[in-house]
Amino acid sequence: MTTPAETGVAADAQSGGQTGAQPSAGASVAPATEAADFLEKYGVTPAQADHDTLVRMITDLLNDGLKTRTEPFPEDNKEFADILEELRGLSADQLREKLVISGWLLKPYGEDEMRCQECMYFLFHKRWCDLPELMLPAEPDWWCRLWRI
Ligand code: SF4
Repeated sequence: MTTPAETGVAADAQSGGQTGAQPSAGASVAPATEAADFLEKYGVTPAQADHDTLVRMITDLLNDGLKTRTEPFPEDNKEFADILEELRGLSADQLREKLVISGWLLKPYGEDEMRCQECMYFLFHKRWCDLPELMLPAEPDWWCRLWRI
């Protein structure tokens, strides 16, 4: 099983993807390799996984130390759109990259304690992020940098 650190995604995320020498997070793990890792550990890939299994995948990745790009927070529509564009290039199985690029956290963020519960994309009863470029389970106290009200 390949760990996040071994894939280079975590290192890329820690650098903010700004070193120039580092590949972007989306390009750092071959989709087939990432899917095979999930298949080995969970018996399904993210594209095949049900809600509860996706929650386990997400929490395991973050609790195992996956560093995500919480900064920079998009300050305008262009910066927001640029992040969405990066996410659109990913397959449903590239869960690790989705989390890195979106700056996913399992806790509120910042002085204002921003969290999914107040985000316009959060579907409370489904415990779901309805942003088309993510479409993943989310919990009220989680957050990502695509947070919007
Ligand atoms: S866009 Fe981010 S903050 Fe908003 S619901 Fe989705 S994961 Fe949570």
